Amino acid sequence: MSHKRLEIAVIGSGIAGIAAAIRLAIKGHEVTVFEAHATPGGKLNQISTSGYRFDAGPSLLTLPSLIDELFEIAGENPEDHFQYEQLDTNCHYFFEDNTAIKAYSDQTKLIHELAAKTGESPDAIVRHLRHSQMLFENLSGLFMFRSLNDPGTYFSKQALKAYLKIPQFGFFKTMNRANEQRFDSPKLIQLFNRYATYNGSDPYQTPATMNIIPHLEMSIGAYFPRGGMYSITSALVKLAERKGVKFRFKTRVNRIILNGKKAIGIATKSDEERFDKVISNMDIVNSYKHLLPDITPPKFLLNQPKSSSALIFYWGVKRQFDQLDVHNIFFSEDYKKEFDHIFQKGNLCNDPTIYVNITSKKNTSDAPSGCENWFVMINTPNNQGQNWDELIAQSRKVILEKLSRNLKTNISELIEVEEILDPRQIESKTSSSLGALYGNSSNNLFAAFLRHANKSARIKNLFFCGGSVHPGGGIPMCLSSAKILSEHFPQVARQA
Ligand code: FAD
Repeated sequence: MSHKRLEIAVIGSGIAGIAAAIRLAIKGHEVTVFEAHATPGGKLNQISTSGYRFDAGPSLLTLPSLIDELFEIAGENPEDHFQYEQLDTNCHYFFEDNTAIKAYSDQTKLIHELAAKTGESPDAIVRHLRHSQMLFENLSGLFMFRSLNDPGTYFSKQALKAYLKIPQFGFFKTMNRANEQRFDSPKLIQLFNRYATYNGSDPYQTPATMNIIPHLEMSIGAYFPRGGMYSITSALVKLAERKGVKFRFKTRVNRIILNGKKAIGIATKSDEERFDKVISNMDIVNSYKHLLPDITPPKFLLNQPKSSSALIFYWGVKRQFDQLDVHNIFFSEDYKKEFDHIFQKGNLCNDPTIYVNITSKKNTSDAPSGCENWFVMINTPNNQGQNWDELIAQSRKVILEKLSRNLKTNISELIEVEEILDPRQIESKTSSSLGALYGNSSNNLFAAFLRHANKSARIKNLFFCGGSVHPGGGIPMCLSSAKILSEHFPQVARQA
């Protein structure tokens, strides 16, 4: 049966919006992406100032094969357009007692380093990594790469195999509990608990199933794209354009036009335009609030607790630090207290864990000669109207004290450029509900099932992709949301 070529509107040029546009253009459809801002990428953006370049949001790339796949289905060689390398050291961890641990990508070196620096038995570490791999092999296919709204998912061979292993998946204990049972070393428990933050969750609440995440970084690998993270956005936008996708920047969509229970177009400030299908890459809460004001929203899904947010200082630092790597973590002394502040009290503790990302270690043009571009981030609660100006001032002080103490150098004297991103701006710049980095948190057992589906069950011709819907936040998941969504669209013959 031959299908009609569809005219499709994508609202938002976040990574998922761009990926959806590429997939649908490759299927032969005519796709227009509407982006409120002057540049594409949403959270995956960059800042350039006074000789420094900073990736504004994501800094860690895992599963780059999902990006390669977009070039491959377009019939192109990914390496011609997007290059990346695997990092030798995934992350460099610093503790207040001067212990420094390098998480090498080489597994033998990694296990040796973790055991030597923490006193933990290598066997326990190997068991943990194998467990993480088992979780990935059994669950990623179900929760990351398939629709949970398709009954077929639950009866697939993969699901039937997984049901037999349910007791091993750690659904009923927290990540922290599982890690305490696995390890004696508080440092190792903290190091592995940190993976909860990779989707904005709390290790003291999120199910132990989230121990799936270390496998992504420690076994499959952490990657660095040539040119920095923003090269993902640039390379994919160019691919989209080669496939005929049209981008309309500085064009905010104000409303999705409905005819009864059917999406028939979009309205901008100046125009109403007809489309066969509409895809919203805008955060799901704001999609209902702003684009679909006359539709009763699915309140239960939309009111699920949101992930953490972040406070980022982009510092141009006029010195280089040999002891630092691309990814660095300076741990707090009381991790439980830190997460209680973020998820229970809604404020910040006075000893936060600090993440420092330095892309100029690899991409030397990101900073002037002899200097480094520091992306300094702490996890924060999402935006509940806190006094952020006060919290930023307090945090800046404690961050500078902690980094100066650990690096035995007065850091504040070295900062020659500063930009700041806080939860309010993350919310206003990308329309992310409460400024959450990853949509809903995964702090409860049912979180995976309580994300909005990629296809609207109530409004015909309406679809959703991005970090606030299934399967969740983070670049790999956003790319997966675009793929799941695209499976609802037919392939059509391209017009000559
Ligand atoms: P978004 O990036 O949310 O973009 C949505 C786009 O839609 C925006 O460009 C916005 O302007 C546009 N838009 C919204 N409404 C409209 C409208 N009405 N009309 C037109 N345009 C509209 N992930 C990782 O994998 N690794 C990391 O290391 C990592 N670190 C992160 C650090 C930070 C500080 C942040 C903020 C996020 C991080 N993430 C990380 C998460 C990751 O960035 C996001 O999950 C992902 O980029 C979200 O993409 P998205 O497709 O949902 O769209």
